[in-house]
Amino acid sequence: MSRTIIVGNGVAGSLLAWAFYQKGEPFTLIGKPVETSSSAVAAGVLNPVTGKRLAKGWMIETFLSTAMQRYRELEEAWEETFFYQLPIQRFCLSSKEVETHRKRREDPEYRGFLGPLRAPGSLVPEFRDDYGSFPIEPVGYVELPKFLEAASRFFSKHDSREEGVFQYEDLYVSKKEIRYRGENIQRVIFCEGHEVNRNPFFAWLPFRPVRGEIITLRIPGLTLPKAIYHHRKWILPLPDGSFRVGSTYDRGGLTAIPTLAGKEALLQGVEGMFHPDFAPELLQHRAGVRPCSKDTRPYLGQHPQYPGLFVLNGMSSKGAVYGPWAADHLADHIIAKQPLEPAFDALRFGRLYRDSGGGV
Ligand SMILES: Cc1cc2nc3c(=O)[nH]c(=O)nc-3n(C[C@H](O)[C@H](O)[C@H](O)COP(=O)(O)OP(=O)(O)OC[C@H]3O[C@@H](n4cnc5c(N)ncnc54)[C@H](O)[C@@H]3O)c2cc1C
Repeated sequence: MSRTIIVGNGVAGSLLAWAFYQKGEPFTLIGKPVETSSSAVAAGVLNPVTGKRLAKGWMIETFLSTAMQRYRELEEAWEETFFYQLPIQRFCLSSKEVETHRKRREDPEYRGFLGPLRAPGSLVPEFRDDYGSFPIEPVGYVELPKFLEAASRFFSKHDSREEGVFQYEDLYVSKKEIRYRGENIQRVIFCEGHEVNRNPFFAWLPFRPVRGEIITLRIPGLTLPKAIYHHRKWILPLPDGSFRVGSTYDRGGLTAIPTLAGKEALLQGVEGMFHPDFAPELLQHRAGVRPCSKDTRPYLGQHPQYPGLFVLNGMSSKGAVYGPWAADHLADHIIAKQPLEPAFDALRFGRLYRDSGGGV
């Protein structure tokens, strides 16, 4: 049986490679060094309710339960620890947010996600806390750099990873056959994150890339109990005593280059979070580009014209959440011929391919 090529070893490509590995399908995962991906920069938080409206993500129960199960299973298979189950402690920053929390708590749809409101100032005294806080569960985070390194090690050990760049000009594709560098290939699945804009076969998909920046700080004098705290920004205490703070949303930023404006916004966020005047020391500042889809849902499925080409992308700002379910779903579709969930099928935007005159 000829092999499948999976292009891109961010969270999407790595999880898809695992789904293929489990099904005994031969594949090669082609990827650049892991630090080049949005996945390597992301906080990796699995958060069921987000934004000022505390909105519950669509199908979030399914995504979360698949994700938690998958990350635990992968920790065992890849012999690495990267998944931590922790609550989010969220602060209300206005009376309006207190009211939103109250309404959501009464909504049966939100049962089990939102804990009760605590009295202002009662959680951790160092935080500015005029309106109270509440826990969000079940939540956790994936230390994605460790996850990506573990995936690379695992697939390299099993001779199914190649470090390098997939060259589109070395691909020959027709309706009947696919060759890469002269070798017959079963199929190619593109998981390139925001770099899909260079892909001659899938660049027609509508993306709204958003740069995100993140900083790591030492804050002398501050220790916080283990949790993910959500205040003006989120702050995560790390095992070595430092703190990770994120993130920014910059719709104009199409490169993964950290900016002065991003750093200042994050440092200001930290300043507004605490009562005492801490003097944070910057240890690291990184940026990534979120591959946001037009409707914030992933894009998966087959190319409209070439049946051997597939895509898994559009993870938007939830790659760690969507990835496990989306990778399994695409693998089941390709290998077991299961139907695709229409809300994720990339062909929901197939009209754009036709309008582009066929792309290639
Ligand atoms: C600051 C920030 C914070 C975030 N926080 C969270 C969070 O808390 N929770 C969450 O769930 N999500 C979060 N996200 C979103 C998350 O990072 C993305 O949804 C996810 O990482 C996208 O994964 P991906 O594998 O699709 O793309 P990427 O991670 O970008 O991976 C694509 C890979 O493909 C490679 N590639 C591209 N073209 C080629 C080629 N031709 N040959 C070989 N390799 C190629 C790239 O180099 C890259 O390594 C955050 C993102 C940012 C930027």
